[in-house]
Amino acid sequence: MADKLERFIFEHADVRGEIVQLDQAYAEILARTEYAPAVQRLVGEGLAAVALLAATLKYPSSLTLQLQSQGPLSLLLVQAGSDGALRAMARSRAALPESADLAEQAQHGTLAITIDPEQGGERYQGVVDLAGGSLAAALEHYFRESEQLPTHVWLSASAHQAAGMLIQRLPGDESAIDGGDADAWERAGHLAATVTGQELRELEPTEVMRRLFHEEDIRVFDPMPFWFRCRCSRNRVGAMLHGLGEQEMRETLAEQGQVEVHCDFCNEPYRFDAVDIEALFTDPAAQPPAQSQRSH
Ligand SMILES: [Zn+2]
Repeated sequence: MADKLERFIFEHADVRGEIVQLDQAYAEILARTEYAPAVQRLVGEGLAAVALLAATLKYPSSLTLQLQSQGPLSLLLVQAGSDGALRAMARSRAALPESADLAEQAQHGTLAITIDPEQGGERYQGVVDLAGGSLAAALEHYFRESEQLPTHVWLSASAHQAAGMLIQRLPGDESAIDGGDADAWERAGHLAATVTGQELRELEPTEVMRRLFHEEDIRVFDPMPFWFRCRCSRNRVGAMLHGLGEQEMRETLAEQGQVEVHCDFCNEPYRFDAVDIEALFTDPAAQPPAQSQRSH
């Protein structure tokens, strides 16, 4: 089954929703890494979360969810492109029981959502404290604080499947007009809250909608595909090594015979031997373009 996200709206109310299911992308990311089971599930929830958030990007851009904490999970970084490309990485300081939830993994954490337009334009970032003990609760907190949009989020990940659902109250008239339905938001929340993680992961999204909202008039849009794709490249790794400086590179070469770097996201190995390192620091053609200077 292809990884996909389905968007829907309530025809007669200012409520929209999304359901995403990720099997293949999640499996590919896990196959390249060696995260503990509790961390794997958070990676899965994070992937579902960024897919839900990226589905409404209006311009070519990438959306990053970054969770940092003082707890065992020091970093969770998950990215989605408006084209459906997904990647993720996590770092932990300490081992965790398999059942550890977000509250146990990430004490005193923050959640940052960043949107980077690809063709210039304003970068957007919203940061909230991690609250509520789950990634879904943290996202709801984010929507409340940063977007002022009432939103319910459900996320679920097993060892093989990750899924998520979001319903959101759109800005609209509070009162019922033109057959509008002022109670629809409340009702949608109550109905949606009956969904189980297993249903979200295993049923077809349209079947989930039918079961939850069978008395509502729902319009479903064309599905949006998602897949795993990392953006790393030899050029980018070369630029990073160049940034670390010639002395450090030569010392690593002397100690190890080559410089080997693995991408934090996809674990792809990049090897630079003595000739490659020489070229990196002496051959102008091989050097990455100069980084723009930051002003102080
Ligand atoms: Zn990579």
